[in-house]
Amino acid sequence: MIPVNIPQLNGNEKKYLEECIDTGWISSEGPFVSRFENEFSKYIGQNYGIAVSNGSAALDVAIRALELEKGSEVICPTFTIISPVQSVINEGLVPVLIDSDEETWNMDVNQIESKITSKTKAILVVHIYGLPVDMNPILQLAKKHDLKIIEDAAEMHGQTYNDKKCGAFGDVSIFSFYPNKHITTGEGGMILTSDSILAERCKKLRNLCFEKGRRFVHNEIGWNYRMTNMQAALGVAQLEQIDTTIDRKREIGHLYNQLLKNNADLQLPLAQAEYAENIYWVYGLVAKSEEECARIQRQLGELKIGTRPFFWCMHEQPVFNKMGFFKSESYPVAEKIARNGFYIPSGLGITNEQIEEVAESLIKIVANG
Ligand SMILES: *Cc1c(COP(=O)(O)O)cnc(C)c1O
Repeated sequence: MIPVNIPQLNGNEKKYLEECIDTGWISSEGPFVSRFENEFSKYIGQNYGIAVSNGSAALDVAIRALELEKGSEVICPTFTIISPVQSVINEGLVPVLIDSDEETWNMDVNQIESKITSKTKAILVVHIYGLPVDMNPILQLAKKHDLKIIEDAAEMHGQTYNDKKCGAFGDVSIFSFYPNKHITTGEGGMILTSDSILAERCKKLRNLCFEKGRRFVHNEIGWNYRMTNMQAALGVAQLEQIDTTIDRKREIGHLYNQLLKNNADLQLPLAQAEYAENIYWVYGLVAKSEEECARIQRQLGELKIGTRPFFWCMHEQPVFNKMGFFKSESYPVAEKIARNGFYIPSGLGITNEQIEEVAESLIKIVANG
């Protein structure tokens, strides 16, 4: 069996976890939490880090912390995981969707300006699968129309846009530390910002909005989204290895690119954009049709090779349609990618031999179609 992802925990993870157990610091009060927040925010290039229980929680907090007026519009990609758009809707805001770029699979930045209205208050950027969104046009639009930038960098630990790290662009940015991300804490997430007031709001929202005065008297509702010391211990150890992680992810991507390059029936991930080299968070492929995509995944599965389909578009989510959102909207590029795309095993635990086995099997299956 070759699963889509196996994480690697072979640095100081065990040592730091033992420290948690030996000292008894296992809750969010333990010292690894602030250490992880400081080291990770510094690594990315924002002033403050607020560690939380997962990436989706980070989005909830980040978006509420901005205090946008209810009914405000937020520009979002349609091709994304549900988390960012769910948080927008939960806050009483209105997501306005953008189609994807055919090559990078990211939000097509050329389509944003025509969707900006007097109600637009933010652009929610989600970097997809390994290449960043083209940020310069977004920064210009944000400045011109006085919009906040919410940056979902959950798949981009260590990736740069030109020379600046992803996650350093948002008024608020978020990361996830789920086991398939470049840094994992099992479950975990972080909000980053350089605004001290926003940082304080995020800390408060993470911790049930406890007040500085009389404990257990609350003026606002928040969440318990705290990260444990044990999760943060893993995070500190994982961050120590980020450079080799990124190198290895790129190596995995290059190896697949090499092995699969002469295949006209598969669209490979774009290796390089003007502003970034792919880090292959996952190694995604787009087949010729929805049927081919399903057949390839099924036949790889029969060979015990794991795959996952691509994200499903937000405008086609039954739950959002039932709520009255995005009815009869259409985004043809994103629809095609969502239907025809899948990804193959590319986690840090994979060996080069396994990569060769996956590629060989894939080539055979595609040729027999
Ligand atoms: C993984 C991911 C999330 C959610 O993170 P969780 O920790 O799984 O809640 C959010 N956004 C993007 C783009 C992701 O890839």
